[in-house]
Amino acid sequence: MTTHSTRMLILGSGPAGLSAAIYGARAGMKPILVQGIQPGGQLMTTTDVENYPGFADVIQGPWLMEQMQKQAEHVGTNLVWDTIVDVDLSRRPFRLTGDSGDVYEGDVLVIATGAQAKWLGLDSEEAMKGKGVSACATCDGFFYRGKKVAVIGGGNTAVEEALYLTNHSPDVTLIHRRDTLRAERILQERLFAHKGINVLWNKEVHRFVGGGSPEGLVALDLKDTVTGEMSTLDVEGGFVAIGHHPATELFRGHLDLDSDSYIKVEPGSTRTSIPGVFACGDVMDKIYRQAVTAAGTGCMAALDAEKFLAEADFERIAEAAE
Ligand code: FAD
Ligand code: NAP
Repeated sequence: MTTHSTRMLILGSGPAGLSAAIYGARAGMKPILVQGIQPGGQLMTTTDVENYPGFADVIQGPWLMEQMQKQAEHVGTNLVWDTIVDVDLSRRPFRLTGDSGDVYEGDVLVIATGAQAKWLGLDSEEAMKGKGVSACATCDGFFYRGKKVAVIGGGNTAVEEALYLTNHSPDVTLIHRRDTLRAERILQERLFAHKGINVLWNKEVHRFVGGGSPEGLVALDLKDTVTGEMSTLDVEGGFVAIGHHPATELFRGHLDLDSDSYIKVEPGSTRTSIPGVFACGDVMDKIYRQAVTAAGTGCMAALDAEKFLAEADFERIAEAAE
């Protein structure tokens, strides 16, 4: 068992954690970044990225993350292959234990453990991911311009994604398993007023149907949740929008989480309920969930952390002088 100590400990190697690392290293905080089971984060699971600013041509998600990792290392971040399994945030330095048995101590902690989309859990869904089935309309909607698409879900995300998709698609169907939406009234009003969106009530996806060459989504087999009747909807894009799981189980009982288990931060900052612990990216953001916003809040976390350490150092020096 080895103990690794640093001024700035970062969990997560997605855009949020790596951006925090780039800023933290350049501020002299010598960050250690524990990468977790998905080094590079969610963008490692996608191909084309067209909306990350700075690239005129389409770039690949894994390439972008490799560039961010190299940039973080070049400026002085120590990237570690480990996953945190236990945390002690009761005193500083914060003390975290990795799957390897190693211990990581940080004067400040930046949590950037992200979130994962919930999926329906169908074999056909798994088979068609990236071939017409997606969990992010903002990311992938553009690839279905002019095509028929469907969104599955009845919450705010599903309704916002359906509305967003009308920018690209002339024919959007929202599929919900009940006969009332969970989404806020104002969003429902916008949805029902939109002529380009059709809502199918009491339906669940039974199968995502592939076809063509190269294979792509061609239809959804639907089952009526009331009558059990089967039907088919021809679509080329299927967007699953049934919620996300923020990766916060480690912090339950240690940090304040909201009702959806996202880490609570003070508005306009990345400060959590424990001084010296900061959260950035999808783990604290259930609204935007984009690489660029994750990177932006990662930058904020590093700046907040630097300010916290400078103030803590000042107080220590002042106390010693008294
Ligand atoms: P994540 O990228 O989720 O990274 C979380 C990190 O935390 C991972 O490295 C993981 O290993 C680590 N971690 C988790 N638990 C632990 C632990 N216990 N210990 C240590 N580390 C841990 N956004 C766009 O802007 N444009 C797009 O085109 C786009 N396409 C997408 C396509 C797909 C298929 C998906 C799934 C998402 C897409 N997104 C896109 C969204 C974007 O990927 C996310 O918003 C972004 O990755 C969030 O970054 P993050 O750093 O907060 O978290
Ligand atoms: P959500 O509110 O939990 O809604 C998930 C929806 O998916 C529900 O309608 C649910 O159906 C449906 N669903 C869940 N599992 C399903 C399954 N296995 N099969 C079919 N349907 C399923 O999730 P969300 O919409 O992602 O929102 C999460 C949180 O973020 C909420 O607090 C929301 O208000 C917030 N948010 C806010 C904004 C905004 O303010 N603009 C935008 C996005 C999200 P049931 O209704 O039948 O349970």
